[in-house]
Amino acid sequence: MTIRFGPAGLGLAKKGLKACEIAFTYGVYIKNDSDALRIGKKARELDIELSVHAPYWVNLNSEEKAKREATKQRILDSCRVGELLGAKVVVFHPGYYGKDKDKAYETIREGIVELMKEIKAKGWKIKIAPETMGKINVFGSVEEISKLVQETGCSFCIDFAHVLARDKEVDYSRIEKAFPQKEWHCHFSGIVYGEKGEKHHITTPLEKWKELLAHLPRDRGIRIINESPSMIEDCAEGLAILKSLATPR
Ligand SMILES: [Zn+2]
Repeated sequence: MTIRFGPAGLGLAKKGLKACEIAFTYGVYIKNDSDALRIGKKARELDIELSVHAPYWVNLNSEEKAKREATKQRILDSCRVGELLGAKVVVFHPGYYGKDKDKAYETIREGIVELMKEIKAKGWKIKIAPETMGKINVFGSVEEISKLVQETGCSFCIDFAHVLARDKEVDYSRIEKAFPQKEWHCHFSGIVYGEKGEKHHITTPLEKWKELLAHLPRDRGIRIINESPSMIEDCAEGLAILKSLATPR
């Protein structure tokens, strides 16, 4: 088993952090291809696996075709730069339910299939990874993301904080069954939530780190991206706890 920890945001190659998610959450900010190539090369030298988070302003289930197309373009722009970076995955928020939950699934699946076709046509290796979402009225339950993966072959991002906020508990064995794949891309942090789900991310409480690290399956390659407000310190704490867990489970 390998677990790589890293911050959401271009972090520092210190304290043993071996993963990093470049957050294009408010736009694809790496404008020059040469910069992307240079960052990618540096990351490989430091043995840091990169990932990318696509902009927040996306919805593969918008009722307006123009907005669905703009969503795909934003995800593809993220993929293009991600490919130059040598990133493994582009994480994105799939969309909203709109009026009809079942139709939302179909529309989002169709969007993913089209995106994967484009990626293949360009000869890119990068994978797209819809994320489990933390609000009950937003598309992205464990079951929905798992079904998308099964039906399209796309990748995925398990956000454990979102699962907790949405389901009010994290059923690790259910998640393990829903995602039998060997490689897991995960988000993790503390979270404040209510009846409707996620409110905001917070620094991870010690016991939450212990719970996660004790329950993660031992036979996968796992990247854990920390999205708490103090992400670098938080990751370092997670890593220290992992090292101290002599006999996990
Ligand atoms: Zn996200």
